Amino acid sequence: MRILLASSEVHPYSKTGGLADMVGALGKHLARAGHQVGLVTPLYAGIREKFPAMARFGNPLQLMLGHQPTTAEIWALEPINGLTIYFVDQPDFYQRPALYQRDGADFPDNAERFIFFSKVVAHLALTLPWNPEVVHAHDWQAGLVPLLMQEEARLGKTGQGRVLPRTFFTIHNLAYQGLFPISRYALTNLSWSHFTAAGLEFYGQLSCLKAGIAYSDYVTTVSPRYSKEITTTEYGCGLDGFLQDHQAKLVGILNGVDYEEWNPETDNTIQAPYSAADLNGKAANKAALQEEMKLPVDANVPLLGSINRLVEQKGVDIQLGALEEMLGADLQFVLLGSGNPTFEQAYVDLAKRHPTKVAVQIGYNHGLSHRIEAGTDFFLLPSRFEPCGLNQMYSLRYGSVPIVRATGGLDDTVIDFSESPESANGIKFSEYSSTALARAIRKGLAIYDEPELLEHYRMNGMAADFSWSRTADQYLSLYRKAP
Ligand code: ADP
Repeated sequence: MRILLASSEVHPYSKTGGLADMVGALGKHLARAGHQVGLVTPLYAGIREKFPAMARFGNPLQLMLGHQPTTAEIWALEPINGLTIYFVDQPDFYQRPALYQRDGADFPDNAERFIFFSKVVAHLALTLPWNPEVVHAHDWQAGLVPLLMQEEARLGKTGQGRVLPRTFFTIHNLAYQGLFPISRYALTNLSWSHFTAAGLEFYGQLSCLKAGIAYSDYVTTVSPRYSKEITTTEYGCGLDGFLQDHQAKLVGILNGVDYEEWNPETDNTIQAPYSAADLNGKAANKAALQEEMKLPVDANVPLLGSINRLVEQKGVDIQLGALEEMLGADLQFVLLGSGNPTFEQAYVDLAKRHPTKVAVQIGYNHGLSHRIEAGTDFFLLPSRFEPCGLNQMYSLRYGSVPIVRATGGLDDTVIDFSESPESANGIKFSEYSSTALARAIRKGLAIYDEPELLEHYRMNGMAADFSWSRTADQYLSLYRKAP
């Protein structure tokens, strides 16, 4: 098939979260399966310098953004056979040190930046010489793509003999909706007939996410459980009714893990490789992590870890509460994360008060994120909601037993003893409270005290297989199913 993907972040070029991992891996696996794949993404600061092999593609584009003719150049890079990354080069919009925010606040021109991005994607979808038959847009930043394509086609702007590609939209996180004041709508150059409750209007605002849902042939979420949850008031972020209306085209497909990136047997960012057959390296990684994080090096103390965007979604409040409760016990905890300054400060303070038990690194650190998976005994992810979650799947493969709240993708991927003693690979709890998390941590410590049981959990976790080939196959059958 000929497939065009569009995403505002793609690993290894840009990343703030799981979206980048997912889209990077999807592109790679579809191309490896023999399909022709293009992937459109903004050219942020530093990417061209890091990937100098990219070359100019075609002539500069000029598209209307409201009344403003706006130009972009496209750069193309072919990292593997069959996969072309198209970088949208619009320096005023994308040459910035961060993707979406400065000092914790969204850039004031994010509407311009991502409406323009969506316009470029729609244009490429209809003009690329290899004639994509499927266009798969991700998250609100690309939410307008299906509608913009329809409009271009309606105005007769599709190339001769071309049919409108089928459109797919993936919600990676319903909480981020790309909401903008009505005054920004003019930037889309779309007819006002779409600005309705059934279209892209949300309580008087423009919702880029709603556009993706309303106008694509299929909508997917990144786990089956989350596709059900978002049709409920509790998880629907105000869109539950709207999503119920579109339920017939809503499908949950669990993200895969890129085991080329996340494999303790071949990971060159960790101290010592290891496998389920030989766990010796795990101990060396634990010691190295304790040393790196300046904690006492002690093979016997259970080491818990967490890697996260420090935002409410991730259950930061109950994690802080549970740690306060549990720090009397013999354990250590390491955290890597960044986000809300109040949460950052709370962790820094916790580490100051418990320097021999808690170590915190605020910031983004790719290598350390791997070393935490490799060095810890348990991994905490007590999310309030979790569309898929990747870290729990990484920790399963690294033999770090996940302790998670039973929601979204966490519930789909972690198996608790109560569900199946034989296949248990982690600990799940339901109630969103510090007490419930502390109880789950206590269960973890009890498992740690029984080496055979710990081994049972680890072996089950390391054997769990969330390979991308299965995920890519599911997307392919959906691509084929569309009208
Ligand atoms: P989300 O997309 O909501 O942030 P996911 O679990 O889907 O959550 O994906 C998070 C990804 O980002 C994982 O690959 C994780 O390792 C990575 N990550 C998050 N915070 C950091 C950080 N501070 N440093 C390095 N990697 C991080």
